[in-house]
Amino acid sequence: MPEKSSKNVAQNLKAEAEALFNKGIKISSVFNKLSVGLFMFKKNPDDKMKVAYTCQKCNHIFSGELDLEMPYTVKCEKCEVLIFKQEKTPKKGIKKLAKS
Ligand SMILES: [Zn+2]
Repeated sequence: MPEKSSKNVAQNLKAEAEALFNKGIKISSVFNKLSVGLFMFKKNPDDKMKVAYTCQKCNHIFSGELDLEMPYTVKCEKCEVLIFKQEKTPKKGIKKLAKS
């Protein structure tokens, strides 16, 4: 159960990715970090990353596309706290969306 804000942009983006996934559309990268309020994915390797997060520090809400380079890092555009940092090179293919 989401216990924070009703405007959970990360949840909404996850739902968007799941809808594509359920239609059988391939998604090249998925980062499911709902535990820190972030979800992001891109359909094609050359696409911009679709990113949605709620900053845990300043509650800034972001939803949009970012031109990220590997290794991916996402900082809050307002307070610049590090929200997501890619620890290792991603596995190829579709990851399961179910776990957070
Ligand atoms: Zn912030």
